[in-house]
Amino acid sequence: MNPDPEYTVSDTSFSSLNLPPTMLSNLADLGYKEMTPIQARSLPHALADKDIIAKAKTGSGKTAAFGIGLLLKINQRDFGTQALVLCPTRELSTQVAQEIRRLARFKNNLKLVTLCGGQSVGPQIGSLEHGAHIIVGTPGRIQDLIRKGKLDLSRCTTVVLDEADRMLDMGFYEQIDGVIRNTPKKRQTLLFSATYPDGIKKLSSDLQVDPVEITVESVH
Ligand code: ADP
Ligand code: MG
Repeated sequence: MNPDPEYTVSDTSFSSLNLPPTMLSNLADLGYKEMTPIQARSLPHALADKDIIAKAKTGSGKTAAFGIGLLLKINQRDFGTQALVLCPTRELSTQVAQEIRRLARFKNNLKLVTLCGGQSVGPQIGSLEHGAHIIVGTPGRIQDLIRKGKLDLSRCTTVVLDEADRMLDMGFYEQIDGVIRNTPKKRQTLLFSATYPDGIKKLSSDLQVDPVEITVESVH
């Protein structure tokens, strides 16, 4: 792992990031004036296409820390799945999907599909038939849909593991590994976790290349 070079971020405004004007004005409309610490530390690396392993608490603004870069990489003319966010539960998947939609308000016709267990699979298969630029969901259901031949991740070059420690606590290691094996080797993998048990270190070394390591203690 690459410890994040010792630095304090002096400019925490989103405008320091060289984002497209449409994204900047949407962030202003959302009332996001300053980056939170995890955003200020992650976004420069995320936008530079680096792998990241980040330790940060709930409520620290992780979704925008990975969502902004993820959205900017989507080519909307390509209806293949280009980004995947794995979450531990349906509730968390729904929250992440909602926040990504808010961040993407300026993008018309962006297709984001949530795929979680505990819901019938038929409508999920139906929604995939119309194309999905971004998939958010839980590892088991996503693995099921890959096995059924309904989900192609061969062009999915951004992968996010959100709340990775909780996913491991729930016994999802094999499913996560199985899903990510279906994505290209050359991809960006972003891992967010509140804690770093050994399983997280193994997951990182299995799935990431030379990740930047970021630890943020404070939420705001
Ligand atoms: P986490 O995943 O770390 O728990 P979220 O991404 O869900 O955090 O963000 C928590 C809340 O903070 C959300 O309501 C989100 O809209 C808000 N938020 C995120 N970034 C900012 C920001 N830079 N300024 C103001 N509010 C923000
Ligand atoms: Mg979150």
